[in-house]
Amino acid sequence: MGNEQSGSTSGDTSLWLNPGLSSSGDAFVNITISDVLAANDRLDRFAGLLVRLFPELASQAGKIESELLPLPFIPGVDESTGPHGRYWVKADHALPIAGSVKARGGVHEVLEFTERLAREHGLLQGDDCTVLADPAARAIFARHEVAVGSTGNLGLSIGLMAAALGFRATVHMSADAKQWKKDRLRDNGVRVVEYTGDYARAVAAGREKAAADPWCYFVDDEQSTSLFAGYAVAAFRLQDQLEALGIQVDAEHPLFVYLPCGVGGAPAGITWGLKYLYGPSVHCFFIEPQASSCFQVRMQHPHSPGITVYEVGLDNKTEADGLAVPVASELAFREMRHRLSGIVTTSDEAMFRDLHWLNEQHGMRVEPSAASAFSAPPLLVHSETGRGYLQAQELSGRMADANHIIWTTGGSFVPDVEFSRFLHRGRDARQP
Ligand SMILES: *Cc1c(COP(=O)(O)O)cnc(C)c1O
Repeated sequence: MGNEQSGSTSGDTSLWLNPGLSSSGDAFVNITISDVLAANDRLDRFAGLLVRLFPELASQAGKIESELLPLPFIPGVDESTGPHGRYWVKADHALPIAGSVKARGGVHEVLEFTERLAREHGLLQGDDCTVLADPAARAIFARHEVAVGSTGNLGLSIGLMAAALGFRATVHMSADAKQWKKDRLRDNGVRVVEYTGDYARAVAAGREKAAADPWCYFVDDEQSTSLFAGYAVAAFRLQDQLEALGIQVDAEHPLFVYLPCGVGGAPAGITWGLKYLYGPSVHCFFIEPQASSCFQVRMQHPHSPGITVYEVGLDNKTEADGLAVPVASELAFREMRHRLSGIVTTSDEAMFRDLHWLNEQHGMRVEPSAASAFSAPPLLVHSETGRGYLQAQELSGRMADANHIIWTTGGSFVPDVEFSRFLHRGRDARQP
């Protein structure tokens, strides 16, 4: 398969192309457009409640959305060989509530559960959802528990949202989870259960405990269609932003989107939405740490559901805690088999280098996971595999009119001490 080392960056990144990509095979397996539109409507309907619970959302009228910011150039792309198009950052690292891409999906699933409970208890009579922050509603929610397994960011999204509504919130956390994320959850009244094992084990433990407790609702990152639909809403919001900026997306104006991938739910949700909107004119690539490339491993073994990175000799050890996942989501895998263009794997060093660059050049604060997507564009435009893709898609002559979106998925809440450690490592990685 199209697996190669790039000769054009520092030699520690590689691009794999998905042989299953097809422009016609858009059979909707589990997710339908009505799921996604319902998620979009739900987030709109509950905007008033969100403002009541999180006053910082007032300026955005309760909409959890990030900016699309221009970048004049990015490291590793040699413009003298171009033009290769324009670059943008989709700044989900600054998303309110969770400080990561997990905000839309996580908030959506908690709201969907909340709405169901509220209707069962007759709490929602008219259209006013803000009553769900009243003491009567909170007293009912307090009887229920909302739980999730997380390496950190999903826990922040679900835990903070559930606790704000008055639920008992529990986050089952893997060994990779950063201390500050646990502290932030506990400071907000969320119970954190720590595991010595990896992410898949923390999820399994949480799922098992929840199954035995009828008062516990478990958000299942590996299987949830509600999370997936919430993530997919981002595509429709991005479409509005592109239109507002006058950016065209069609056969003559290809759009490339680079998305950091853990279990695959968030990037697959976004890809699903974008493929729905733009079909073959959008080209989505996932980025994974080399040691935790569970999605690539799953895509390369289409007949081995549940295959782990350990089975192919990888150790799942990476500083990109948001992506330290040994097994891909089967839901995400099924939805991506024919929609995903390819996967880039990258090293921790490259992430720290790009994190440092982004902070120095643009003052943005992202965590290592979120800097990973910067490894992708240089491979697409410079490597043999990448150029082969552009040729096969008949895009080689159209790149001047291309747009590249690098999705920075988390980091604005990283504490100063931690972030300066990241910067130190990044500076070291940038020394020749
Ligand atoms: C969770 C996460 C991702 C990827 O989402 P998955 O649904 O796990 O694939 C990417 N970046 C960051 C910072 C994350 O926290």
